[in-house]
Amino acid sequence: MSQVVGSITPRVVSREVRLKRRPVGMPVPSDFELAEVTLAQPGDGEFLVRNLYMSVDPYMRGRMIDRKSYVPPFELDEAMGGGCVGVVESSNHERFNVGDHVLGMNGWREYWVSDGTDVQTVDPHLAPVQAYLGVLGMPGLTAYVGLLEIGALADGDTVFVSGAAGAVGSVVCQIAKIKGCRVVGSAGSAAKLDWLSAVAGVDEVIDYKGAGDLRDALGEACPDGIDVYFDNVGGAHLEAALDLMNTGGRIVACGSISTYNATEPPPGPRNMFRVVTNRLTIRGFIVTDHWDRFGAFVRDASGWIAAGQLKWEETVHEGIESAPAAFLGLFTGENLGKMLVRL
Ligand code: NDP
Repeated sequence: MSQVVGSITPRVVSREVRLKRRPVGMPVPSDFELAEVTLAQPGDGEFLVRNLYMSVDPYMRGRMIDRKSYVPPFELDEAMGGGCVGVVESSNHERFNVGDHVLGMNGWREYWVSDGTDVQTVDPHLAPVQAYLGVLGMPGLTAYVGLLEIGALADGDTVFVSGAAGAVGSVVCQIAKIKGCRVVGSAGSAAKLDWLSAVAGVDEVIDYKGAGDLRDALGEACPDGIDVYFDNVGGAHLEAALDLMNTGGRIVACGSISTYNATEPPPGPRNMFRVVTNRLTIRGFIVTDHWDRFGAFVRDASGWIAAGQLKWEETVHEGIESAPAAFLGLFTGENLGKMLVRL
């Protein structure tokens, strides 16, 4: 399948996952379909990539809904897309050579042909290639920009992070620790809380599923209030954090995963007046508006990794056929660190 004869590559059979039906509420396996396609040989100025890893991300749930948003919806009966890293198997392109590792947006499939648009090479010597989908990729940049720029982190801040053991949250926690802050993280299992305490160095952890009243647990963990709340979750977490924000506090509105499968618009926090009384800033952002910070982020993150200050975990499913299950696992909290599919 991957033999190259001169510049001629035999046709390649690739499996891909398509969106069969737009999910209502929590997606189910039958919303997806595994299909097989035969790819034409790469033409002039094109190359063939075999995916090694693909990413599943919470934002993909929004793309399954037919509505206008910051990214277009997935089409029905077509392969979905998303972050992936692969290896160039044959090439008629002057910049991309056989054996190069590349980062692209053609996930949810085994092979793809590209003309190089929106594809970049990655260095497999700096980190395992799949790290470019996590700690050294989009989730890492989200944490970096969100905390340092959107959240305007300052010395001595108390930082509360929800979804703290996930791809974004785990990096947020560790950057805040590197910057000398006090960090409180919430997550949904004992294994995640253990990792946050023992490996990420988080000061206080909250099991939001088992802690009883979240507002009380957060109050105990933050006796001096919260200066920066990095919100990955929305809903009850946001309401609890609002109650505890210090004057001049910043809320980084990164995501709201607790609401992504809602079939009715979820009610807003009941305590929004706290924004007025405590002069709070709530600021949303989308990471793709901040790619200009990618170089600075990779420089900093590589240094932190080399110094042993930034660690990461991956939860890996095997094979393209497991991609829907990996995606669904994001909503049941199956992943510690970045959720990936190895292809
Ligand atoms: P994660 O790796 O954190 O995976 C999702 C995690 O969310 C799960 O493991 C689970 O952990 C938690 N979760 C799922 N359902 C709920 C719920 N109902 N209540 C509380 N927690 C829940 O994903 P990412 O790190 O990729 O993304 C984290 C957030 O950041 C998401 O909201 C995402 O949309 C957002 N995001 C935003 C970006 C931007 O540009 N603004 C870019 C990238 C991500 P647990 O076991 O702890 O429940």
